[in-house]
Amino acid sequence: MRGRTLTKAARQAVDKSTLGTLRPSGTYAATVLTSTDCNLTCSYCFQNEVSVPGATSRIETVRLRASTVVSIRTFLAQQMARQGVQALSLLLFGGEPLLNLAGCIRLLDECRPLGLADAQMVTNAVLLTARTATRLATTGLTGVQVSIDGGRESHDSLRLTRRGRATYDRILRNVSEAAQATDLDWHFRVNVSHRNVHTLHGLVRDLADCGVRRKSLHLALIDDVGIGFGNDLRLGKDLAKTFVDVYTMAIGLGFGATVSADGTRDCPYCARVGGAEGAVINADGSLYSCWATAGKPGWRVGDVVAGYQPTEVLAPRWVNCSHEAASHGTTREVNQFRDRVDVGILEALASRRASMQSQGRDGVSTSL
Ligand code: SF4
Repeated sequence: MRGRTLTKAARQAVDKSTLGTLRPSGTYAATVLTSTDCNLTCSYCFQNEVSVPGATSRIETVRLRASTVVSIRTFLAQQMARQGVQALSLLLFGGEPLLNLAGCIRLLDECRPLGLADAQMVTNAVLLTARTATRLATTGLTGVQVSIDGGRESHDSLRLTRRGRATYDRILRNVSEAAQATDLDWHFRVNVSHRNVHTLHGLVRDLADCGVRRKSLHLALIDDVGIGFGNDLRLGKDLAKTFVDVYTMAIGLGFGATVSADGTRDCPYCARVGGAEGAVINADGSLYSCWATAGKPGWRVGDVVAGYQPTEVLAPRWVNCSHEAASHGTTREVNQFRDRVDVGILEALASRRASMQSQGRDGVSTSL
């Protein structure tokens, strides 16, 4: 480190390490949407066509069916054999995946024989009761990523049910009860904008009070993807300081944190054209290059029965999740921001490790 940024060599070392990834190495990655529908109405959702009150203008509603699950398993087995990979990293995605719990269970059941190294779910957690979490965990789910929009007040102004009900307290109660009932890993993704950046410390305190053992935190700026939801936050020293303060507090309270991965370079889905390292599969079995295009007309690149389309057909549709997102700063500002935040995270992790070692409690993970 040099001052408060990383040297070029340190940045290269961090980028090459596994500190920025949650996926086990040596696995084939599969994201499967079990339901494109959602019980919430987040106006910034990249699956919306436009941002309107109630956010009803979403991608077409599709649910994963039993026959499609079988085709997905066959497709994944073929992809893994082609790549000589013997373990699968599965992500259950939506919409809200728990709107199709039966589809989630069936998918986990079918994928287990493929060698499930890990199985995660991205969920808003509104439906994640202790009973549901237990059922999923006993079927093979290993971790949950819960999306939250800041402290109670800001979250409840952004993450509402279709009937306009607040969700913050229900989500935290579900997390607390599900964590008591299972051995799942918990990853909290906080969607940050100018509307909630001042609430992050309160949120971290509330999450810490949920009593979750293995937990990590990720702060992610909400992107402006041209649907009417802007984000006034700009990358700079002040925002970096806020992020570092929040991460430092969280790490002190027992959260893990990952450094900022070079998302598009390392992504198993979009980094290489043609699905060599991973596949994004919609609930109807259609293939896409990334989460942001899944289910959107014009972006399909194949399906699990016929496989990927020829390169000349799919290449123009092979994009990454940020392809429609307005940048939060210049390239220089983005890199400086990454460096500042990563230095803060690494220092906080090192400090916690030292503190635990001095108390005779070793084994602190550098990421989670
Ligand atoms: S919970 Fe997720 S999928 Fe549902 S509307 Fe919000 S951002 Fe979109």
